[in-house]
Amino acid sequence: MKHSLRSQLIFQYMVIVIVCMLVIPTAISELLEWQFKNFLNDRLDEYETEFTDYFASLYEETGTWRARGIFPRGSDFIRWPIAMIQIKDAEGNLVRSYSRFMVKSGPMHGRGHHQRGPVVLPEGLQVRSRDIIARGERVGQVFFTVLPFDKSPESNFLNNFNKIMYYAVAVMLIIAAMIAIFMAYRISTPVLNAARRAQQISMGKYTVEGQNASDITELQTLIESVDRLGRGLEEQEELRKRLMSDIAHELRNPVAVIKSHLEAMEDGVWEPTPERIRLTVSEVDRLSQLIREVEKLTSIEGAAHSLSVEETDASSVVEKASLVFDPLYKNKGVELKRDIEPGVMMQLDGAKMRQVVENLLSNALRYTDAGGSVTVALTGGEKEMTVSVADTGIGIAAKDLPYIFERFYRTDVSRARTSGGIGIGLAIVKAIVEAHGGTIEVESEPGKGTRFTVKIPKRNYL
Ligand code: ADP
Repeated sequence: MKHSLRSQLIFQYMVIVIVCMLVIPTAISELLEWQFKNFLNDRLDEYETEFTDYFASLYEETGTWRARGIFPRGSDFIRWPIAMIQIKDAEGNLVRSYSRFMVKSGPMHGRGHHQRGPVVLPEGLQVRSRDIIARGERVGQVFFTVLPFDKSPESNFLNNFNKIMYYAVAVMLIIAAMIAIFMAYRISTPVLNAARRAQQISMGKYTVEGQNASDITELQTLIESVDRLGRGLEEQEELRKRLMSDIAHELRNPVAVIKSHLEAMEDGVWEPTPERIRLTVSEVDRLSQLIREVEKLTSIEGAAHSLSVEETDASSVVEKASLVFDPLYKNKGVELKRDIEPGVMMQLDGAKMRQVVENLLSNALRYTDAGGSVTVALTGGEKEMTVSVADTGIGIAAKDLPYIFERFYRTDVSRARTSGGIGIGLAIVKAIVEAHGGTIEVESEPGKGTRFTVKIPKRNYL
């Protein structure tokens, strides 16, 4: 059976409280009773000794129990919890008895036992005896009839005390119940909110509405994680939608061109000359290139969080990536300069980082005319390494700068140039750099050149 967190918490708090409140007062009351009984027993022992000595001293005066007036009159000297005292001689004959419960009792032996008034003795009486030793021999016995503990004033006090304690416990129980409910609400409210939020996310509602915080660290972490999860999913969803529409948009153009060419040939408007067929095939090529790039991009964006990071010689990665370009640069007449600090060791995915450098170098070459130069540089630092690719090419207009890292974004200038590229290279670069926890910046001046600066922190990234 499933219970709500709130009722579960309240139930558990209440069980703890009730157990404590039953155990503690019961233990206190038992302990107190035990202490009192001990105390009373000790006192009783003292009384018995005192009385036995007293009667022994009475005997010593006369040497007989039968002497007139040796016993005091009245029974006022009897003290709690003693109810009755009986004195017997050495042969076991009763010589005198005192009782708090008899209206009057006189010397009985010889004259018969006349007792006026009823004897009303409480139940549970206990009889204890002591020998009377006088002049070195046993001359008699005293019998003490003792009242039970529960008839004593101490017991009365204890009962009252217990009663008050149980009232106090009842009041405390009510207060504890209120605290339990308050605590349960305090803990369960943020958890319930987080659960509700997770449920909303699972139903596709990603946006957070209302602030929902807790001052309990773990709960705050839970809330933040759920919120982050929601935002992450929303971003993913957004990314997926944009990618789909971007791809559809990019595919439409070449397909439309191919279709119109083929239709024109079919209708006989266009002679299918080899040159026209080549033109159509080149559109098909563009289409396949687009598909390949899209595949690359999705695999990189998808794998952004699954880099195979290891201790890598970043200098050698950059060096090798740039060496590949030497012949291409030479062909176009662009100088490729290197300013690479050797032996910079970094935690990174070497293959992906190489792709970053290759994409930047390929762009630099594409947008730099013959006679220009490109410099690839690497510096290692305490906290991060910096890789930069600077060219003396055509530059990028300020209005385009914010968008060049977007997928499929190409400046008008580059669209005008027939040179390759479909506007995905920089999006790939950015995805890889960010997966490493790094940043990429661009500075550019049209007609003068462009500089891309990549910064990768040492450690501290996913
Ligand atoms: P593309 O495949 O078209 O090069 P990118 O994503 O690599 O796509 O770049 C996007 C746009 O940024 C390019 O179309 C170009 O207009 C601009 N760009 C990128 N690198 C440079 C550069 N080094 N110099 C001038 N423009 C650049």
